[in-house]
Amino acid sequence: MERVVLLRSLSCTTACRRAFPSRPKLFARHLSSLNKHVQRTNRSFSLRNRGCPRFILAPHVLLRRSFSLTPQAVATPSSKPTPQETSRTSDVAEKLGFERVSEEWVPECKANAVLYRHKKTGAQVMSVSNDDENKVFGIVFRTPPKDSTGIPHILEHSVLCGSRKYPLKEPFVELLKGSLHTFLNAFTYPDRTCYPVASTNNKDFYNLVDVYLDAVFFPKCVEDFQTFQQEGWHYELNDPAEEISYKGVVFNEMKGVYSQPDNILSRISQQALFPDNTYGVDSGGDPRVIPKLTFEEFKEFHRKYYHPSNAKIWFYGDDDPDERFRILSAFLDQFDASSAADESKIDRQRLFSDPVRVVEKYPAGDAGDLKKRHMVCLNWLLSDEPFDLETELTFGFLDHLMLGTPASPLRRILLESGLGDAIVGGGIDDELLQPQFSIGLKGVSEDDVQKVEELIMNTLNKLADEGFDEEAVEASMNTIEFSLRENNTGSFPRGLSLMLRSMGKWIYDMDPFEPLKYEKPLEALKARISKEGSKAVFSPVLKKYILDNPHRVAIEMQPDPEKASKEEAEEKEMLQKVKACMTEEDLAELAQATQELRIKQETPDPPEALKCVPSLSLQDIPKKPIHVPTEIGEINGVKVLKHDLFTNDVLYAEAVFDMSSLKPELIPLVPLFCQSLLEMGTKDMDFIQLNQLIGRKTGGISVYPFTSSIRGKDEPCSHMIVRGKAMAGRVEDLFDLMNTVLQQVQLTDQQRFKQFVSQSKARMENRLRGSGHGIAASRMDAKLNVAGWISEQMGGISYLEFLQSLEKQVDQEWESISSSLEEIRRSLLSKEGSLINLTADGKILSSTEKHVARFLDLLPREKATANVSWNGLLSPGHECIVIPTQVNYVGKAANLYENGYQLNGSAYVISKYIGNTWLWDRVRVSGGAYGGFCDFDTHSGVFSYLSYRDPNLLKTIDVYDRTADFLREIELDEDCLTKAIIGTIGDVDAYQLPDAKGYSSLLRHLLGVTEEERQKRREEILSTSVKDFREFAEAVDAVRHKGVVVAVASADDVTTAHSERSGFFEVKKVL
Ligand SMILES: [Zn+2]
Repeated sequence: MERVVLLRSLSCTTACRRAFPSRPKLFARHLSSLNKHVQRTNRSFSLRNRGCPRFILAPHVLLRRSFSLTPQAVATPSSKPTPQETSRTSDVAEKLGFERVSEEWVPECKANAVLYRHKKTGAQVMSVSNDDENKVFGIVFRTPPKDSTGIPHILEHSVLCGSRKYPLKEPFVELLKGSLHTFLNAFTYPDRTCYPVASTNNKDFYNLVDVYLDAVFFPKCVEDFQTFQQEGWHYELNDPAEEISYKGVVFNEMKGVYSQPDNILSRISQQALFPDNTYGVDSGGDPRVIPKLTFEEFKEFHRKYYHPSNAKIWFYGDDDPDERFRILSAFLDQFDASSAADESKIDRQRLFSDPVRVVEKYPAGDAGDLKKRHMVCLNWLLSDEPFDLETELTFGFLDHLMLGTPASPLRRILLESGLGDAIVGGGIDDELLQPQFSIGLKGVSEDDVQKVEELIMNTLNKLADEGFDEEAVEASMNTIEFSLRENNTGSFPRGLSLMLRSMGKWIYDMDPFEPLKYEKPLEALKARISKEGSKAVFSPVLKKYILDNPHRVAIEMQPDPEKASKEEAEEKEMLQKVKACMTEEDLAELAQATQELRIKQETPDPPEALKCVPSLSLQDIPKKPIHVPTEIGEINGVKVLKHDLFTNDVLYAEAVFDMSSLKPELIPLVPLFCQSLLEMGTKDMDFIQLNQLIGRKTGGISVYPFTSSIRGKDEPCSHMIVRGKAMAGRVEDLFDLMNTVLQQVQLTDQQRFKQFVSQSKARMENRLRGSGHGIAASRMDAKLNVAGWISEQMGGISYLEFLQSLEKQVDQEWESISSSLEEIRRSLLSKEGSLINLTADGKILSSTEKHVARFLDLLPREKATANVSWNGLLSPGHECIVIPTQVNYVGKAANLYENGYQLNGSAYVISKYIGNTWLWDRVRVSGGAYGGFCDFDTHSGVFSYLSYRDPNLLKTIDVYDRTADFLREIELDEDCLTKAIIGTIGDVDAYQLPDAKGYSSLLRHLLGVTEEERQKRREEILSTSVKDFREFAEAVDAVRHKGVVVAVASADDVTTAHSERSGFFEVKKVL
């Protein structure tokens, strides 16, 4: 339910993000859960960085804080403020009506944190000061729903649609377009709604804060029924002769959520665990219940809960703390105290005295063996009250031990059992008032459901009785400590991950400082483990909270190929009844209202209104691209890139191997080859020992393929990247282990390989349902260029089909598969054509050289060359992938370079603008899709349009086709143009932690993007004119005339489309 930034696509890191879809797990398995969250976020945005506005996973799933040992802002050294500084701040705050409640120095994030209370309203403010330039603000309200109408979620969307000071359609979109934000979004949790922003630029930061505060306290939506209709739900009737349909952004978003089996499972689990409190309903909204919501209830919910008395406000970073209170008091002083904080209190769920069992059906396709597609999950409500910090830490640790890596026993035993394809349930979840634990399998045969439940219970019992290997405990401890030390939150601001941690307690009126300070309890836990042994620490916890706990819910989900169409039929029937009850007058009125809403949605805001959204000016923008220090040298004849950056004693290393001499038929095996390297054993070590060794000595190793087009070249860029990280003292171990993984691992473990195939298949099927836009995009790419074709072989529909047939072959043809894996190794692994990339402080870089030299010496000198040419492309026709879904994903794309367009930086500005205006307005706002966006891959020249959770099909393509007309007629004043340019620079200059800077620089090197080119593009971006927009119309017209269409859609919608345009699509059924 987040709103997620659209289209970060056009930055120079396009190709980097493009690598995500096919990269197996990356560091996630070696990181704590918050980082898992970050990874997951990335993965969901993944395909070519396309985000989708406001997204998908239930935030409590998404924002798991669990292994609650996160941020320590160590990479930004900071000194304690002097006493004078602190007291000066509190003077200003006190003058402005805030009282200081408590203050603490938090060494874990080198920050001074002060908790204030706004005296008049009781609003609570946490003001955290350190010298992190990536400043964060957030305001959070407790918003417990009483039903599944989705009020909190619809409100979360709606308050961002215009406010008192910013009376335009969507100030949020204006900020997306024209600010330098490093984070801009909103999340709905089951019990709270959270509005965070971040920026490294002071002026920009305060602009964002002001827009957000005005939005939450004074939104237009509480007076504007049309916003409620647009974001929530409404009846749509274009012509009284036609059928009525439901429309609404949240309505369609949730239909998408309810089409995904994994989401259905986690929702049912939560509701069954909490039948008696607010978590027993869906704050996101059940599409069958959303239409029961009235505008009156909606307004009342806002009045009651969006009040300072019910607010928790967070500021973090290196800005002037006084300024924070000046901004806040201007808003808060306008309110009196209310009883909201009492009314929003979350009741606890009392523990059951007996376990419960729930059986539900989920919508499935009719392809394949239905009997083998059951899902089983065991869930526990761990406690009738929140955990104390010590128990929380212990449980987080235990969770990592049981499930954190492929070698972890609970995960491994479940997968090795062969009873299912992939794990469901995410282990511990302590984001809500009471902690939960869940684990299960999907792809289970009907007859094995009971066996899975028994296996889970037996394994847990065994772990409680026997304890864990000391090596495993040591590996988990090192992984956790490493991730704390590194504090790598990826693209997620550090201050925001701290805020979410603190909020996990604060929102329930517990101590907000406590979650920030884990150092001592962690030391204590370590000391206990070394003194008493790990069994004495973990077994009692496992027994008390899981094994002896009767509050257990077993969920079984059965595939039902009829369910999707049944639900669709029910909805139709419902709407027909509604229509039957209407008089002719009513119908005319509804048609009129539909028309009026559409006109309102499609009419742009007047320029005066747009001007009220504060923005920077071009003078505030640095003229040069972000510089990443790069020294190119050579070790033993291999090119080495070194980036001297402060990394707090961590070395990040990438070894890159050329893939271009691989036989084309082996390409689809590459992702499985990469997984095998990390998850099979060597002659001397089984894979568990190898994984534990990696966990004990390093911060993690990952291996994945990377593919992209290179501008101006026919041959694609195609590599395998091995990525690793370690503390400076462990660099030798890191390179030894990278060598072990690459050269010593035996690719002969048939049983493990079989599991990889099933897991990958399950993952691909999940992507197809949840990220159909990504699948469509990769399919279009595969029709347009070779790099796209290669990627699709390793991560698209072709890959899924490959996995489906491979699953059947593993038993009969293992010898030949195993030797193909060896052949891949021989084709990739050699000094020739390889490259090393290193990121760390200068001193570490120098001391690393000898280890790199040894690593390279051990590689084969030359590769086994084969004469291969990769010129595969998929057939160029329009295609529709049919899956069981209630919403569609629609794409259209063409290669602009092949149609004569020459790259200019203005294309970045224009594509972003098309996405944020034309497509946003037509595909999302009036079309009712959850998202509509475009992407220009500047490396290949492919320009593509995509929609996300879209109720339409052909209609969306028509919108795409009219983009050129939109550009030809465009009127842009200076202000709008400036905002468009600044927003684009914000994307290009996206905030990166040091490891990401080094990595982006590597990708630019591989893709031949020089510093001169970056400077040139930046100048072109900064000097973009309206004329460029109009000229770009010619370029995008190529998509209209020559573009290829790929949709992922429901069978019904394809039939309807074909009744309008017969034979338009070639139809392909995969699920
Ligand atoms: Zn949403």
